[in-house]
Amino acid sequence: MAAALADGTTTSVALTQAHLDRIAAVDGAVHAFLHVDAEGALAAAARSDERRAEGATASPLDGVPIAVKDVLATEGLPTTCGSRILEGWIPPYDATVVTRLRAAGLPILGKTNMDEFAMGSSTEHSAYGPTHNPWDLDRIPGGSGGGSAAAVAAFEAPLALGTDTGGSIRQPGAVTGTVGVKPTYGGVSRYGLVAMANSLDQVGPVTRTVMDAALLHELIGGHDPRDSTSVDQPLPDLVGAARRGAEGDMSGVRVGVIRELTGEGYQDGVLARFEEAADVLVAAGAELVEVSCPSFVHALATYYLIMPCEASSNLAKFDAMRYGLRVLPEGVDSPSAEDVMRATRDAGFGDEVKRRIILGTYALSSGYYDAYYGKAQKVRTLIQRDFAAAFEQVDVLISPTSPTTAFKLGEKLDDPLAMYLNDLATIPANLAGVPGISVPSGLADGLPAGIQVLAPALADDRLYRVGAALEAELTGRWGGPLLDRAPALEGTP
Ligand code: GLN
Repeated sequence: MAAALADGTTTSVALTQAHLDRIAAVDGAVHAFLHVDAEGALAAAARSDERRAEGATASPLDGVPIAVKDVLATEGLPTTCGSRILEGWIPPYDATVVTRLRAAGLPILGKTNMDEFAMGSSTEHSAYGPTHNPWDLDRIPGGSGGGSAAAVAAFEAPLALGTDTGGSIRQPGAVTGTVGVKPTYGGVSRYGLVAMANSLDQVGPVTRTVMDAALLHELIGGHDPRDSTSVDQPLPDLVGAARRGAEGDMSGVRVGVIRELTGEGYQDGVLARFEEAADVLVAAGAELVEVSCPSFVHALATYYLIMPCEASSNLAKFDAMRYGLRVLPEGVDSPSAEDVMRATRDAGFGDEVKRRIILGTYALSSGYYDAYYGKAQKVRTLIQRDFAAAFEQVDVLISPTSPTTAFKLGEKLDDPLAMYLNDLATIPANLAGVPGISVPSGLADGLPAGIQVLAPALADDRLYRVGAALEAELTGRWGGPLLDRAPALEGTP
C-alpha cells in the first residue's frame, strides 16, 4: 500500500475509505472494532495526501491506515479497555505510540475489541461482546488482543497495534494466521497504555507480514522520556533484518528448540507444523539444537501471581471519582465515597477482573506476601537465568506460539485454568523482558497455527531475520499467504 501511495496508483483517502467500507461490510460478523472513527481517519488521510502532493511525506507508512487496541489512550476517541467501568471516558491525551502514529501520518481507523483490561486469551471477557475469528466465526480470535488480530486477518485494517502482557499479541497472531511481535521490554513506550501489569506489558505490531511488522515497529519504538522504563538507546535495524531474512540464508544462525515448550499439552497438528517450520530453518542453513529451560514449567504459576498483584494495584484507580462510570447504590440516602466505589466496581468490572483483583490483593496481603509474591519474584529470576544460559548457546529460541488452534467460543469461558493454559509458551518472554514474534506456521485441522521466535533483550532484529526467512519459505510452499485461504468471509466485498 505504501508503494501504491508512493507511485500515485492510490491515495490515502481512497485506501482509508476502502477499509472503512470493508469494516461496514464485515464487522457486524467479526466485531473487531469497539469504535470506528471514519471522520477522523478520513481527515488524517486527506492531510496525508496533501503532504504527499507537496513531496513531504512524514514516514514510509504515511497514509496507510491502522487500528489501535482499545487499551491505548487516544485523545478525543473513547478508550474503554473493553470494560464498562471506562464507558464514556474520552482521554485528554494520546499514548506516545499514538502520537508517533499520528506524526508518521497513519490514519487511525478506530479502536479494537479486547478482553477487559487485557485479561484473557479469547476476547470473550470483553464487556462489549466477543470478537469472532475470521477463519471460523464460531471460534475465538485469541486474546486479549483478538480485535486487533481479527481486524488485520479480515482485511479491515492493514496494520494494528496490540499489547502483550503474557501473550496477547502473539497468541491472537497464531490463531488468526497473522504476525504479532512483542518487543523487548522498554523498547516501545508504555506511556498512555492503561496498565494491567507494568513490569510485563509491552505495545507491539499486529500485521499480515513480517516486513509490515518491522516497518511499524520502527515507527513506534525507541526512547520515550515519559516512560521511566523506556530503553535509552536506538532500535536495531529491523527493516534491514527482515529484508535480509527474506533472502533465506540462515547459515551461522543457532536455533534452540525449547524442550519444556514442545512436549505434552500441544495439539498434534500444532506440533507437526512447528517441526516442519524448524526443518525449514535447518534447510536454510541454521543449526538446530535442543535447549532446556527447566524453570519454564513454573512460568504460568509465576505469572498468575505477579500479574494479578500488579493488576490489583493498578485497577485501584478506577474508583468512580476520576474516570468513566459512576453508579449510585440503590436504597442508600446519602452514600459515602466508599458506597459509590463499591457499587461502581460491582457494576463496572467483569468476573475475570474481579477474580484477579481478589487474587492479587490476597497474594500481596501481609502474611502472604513473602509466600506468594516474594516467591514468584524469585522464580521470575530463575526464568531470566534460564534465558541467559540458553542465549549463551543459541541466537534465538523457538517453540509453538500457542498449544492449540482457535477453540470454539464458550468452550473455556467457565474454566479459568483451561483459559490460562493458552499462555504456556508465551509467558516466559514477558517474565524475562525478552522479545518474541509469532509467524504463521501453517494449518492444523484447517485452522492457523503459529511458531514463536524469541531473542535476547534488545536483539529484536533477530526476530525479524528469522521470522522473515520462515515466512518466505513457508509462503512459497503454500503457494501464497495463508490468509488468502481464510474461508469465513468469502463472498464479502
Ligand atoms: N492471556 C494472558 C492473561 O490473561 C495474557 C494477557 C495479555 O497478554 N494481555 O493474562
